[in-house]
Amino acid sequence: MALDPPTLLILTIALAAAAALYLAVEWRSVRGAPLLCWSAGFATISIGSLLALLRSNGLLFIGIWFANGLLVTAHWLFLRGVARFTLTRLSRAWYLVFAVWLTMLLLPGPVPWSRTLLVINSLLVALLTLRASLLLRPHGRSLSVGAVQLRYVLLAHGLFYMAKTLPALLPGSLIDLTAFRGEIIQVSLIEGSMAIMLIALSMTGTERYRREQQIARLAARDPLTALYNRRELENRAQRLLEEVSSARPGALLLIDIDHFKSVNDLHGHSAGDRVLVALSEIIRARLPEGALAARLGGDEFVILLSNASSERIVALSTALREQFHQAAAEAFETPQAVTLSVGANLFDQPPESLADLLERGDAALYESKRGGRNSVRLVDHTLGT
Ligand code: GH3
Ligand code: MG
Repeated sequence: MALDPPTLLILTIALAAAAALYLAVEWRSVRGAPLLCWSAGFATISIGSLLALLRSNGLLFIGIWFANGLLVTAHWLFLRGVARFTLTRLSRAWYLVFAVWLTMLLLPGPVPWSRTLLVINSLLVALLTLRASLLLRPHGRSLSVGAVQLRYVLLAHGLFYMAKTLPALLPGSLIDLTAFRGEIIQVSLIEGSMAIMLIALSMTGTERYRREQQIARLAARDPLTALYNRRELENRAQRLLEEVSSARPGALLLIDIDHFKSVNDLHGHSAGDRVLVALSEIIRARLPEGALAARLGGDEFVILLSNASSERIVALSTALREQFHQAAAEAFETPQAVTLSVGANLFDQPPESLADLLERGDAALYESKRGGRNSVRLVDHTLGT
């Protein structure tokens, strides 16, 4: 089958429809607004290409002016999708694109019409696409692989449309939109079908990667305090524990709130929640570089230190206890002081497992509670070696 313009258009219709459907299905599971914009963009290309076929039947207004207008609309939808993805507000000036397109109706036809229409159409598509590519530049945080890919695919597509205007501006070049004649039209249709595939794939990759990151973040964190949960602590602790040596001892601090239940009982569960969040913020603010903190559950928290010493453990525990005690006393009145008990272990050899360390931490914490609470109990395993 020869790749004549009508065949290429049929291919474009099929590819764009498939991309629209693919992104719509993706949207059904992911529910990201950008996916809906992008899906609508491809559906518009599909309809526009279908209408473009009508120009062979002499329906020039629908087959050329309207069909090309839909191509511009599709790129406008792509830009909107990218703006939604990057959480950017698009200026209302972008609606002027449609006003420019409407003025095309005033052009005299048919030959200057072809040339001017192709130039204006290409410039509008290039403008919309390059703006979308620019929106995807990294600002502050790095972009995902999918987003970088989308950025460059859009950049290449936009530059192609810019370049397309040059031969159209040369006198003598053949451009006949009414009969699909002229090399620019042929090349453009081939580029279009390739761009559809690349843009659609990188769009899905972009949104999916972001969603996966969100899911991974949610799965790793305690929802109330946003500290790591036990599972994530286990994942992250391994490297820290492997690096433990007599030159760089490690420490685990198990922290439990004293008389926490009385906050819940006297002031309500949400007051208890606020105390847990306050403690997590104190821990986060005082966490030394390279250390890990997690909420194990209930009112129990853990800190894993690298390069630790008994002085550093005592200093950190004391600072946490004092700051928390003051914050809790200022916030809620309770019959018994709401304070912190800490069970700490200092070790200079990698432990068998985190579970083993936590068990030792539990024993030290129990001693601290038994000793009257609001204290730190430190077991120094480095002394034995
Ligand atoms: P102790 O001094 O011996 O540590 O006693 P405690 O009153 O602090 O109570 P304990 O540590 O034995 O139990 C923790 C309580 O924390 C039990 C549970 O009702 C409460 N709790 C667990 N998770 C949450 C939570 O997410 N929010 C709130 N508000 N309370 C919680
Ligand atoms: Mg407690």
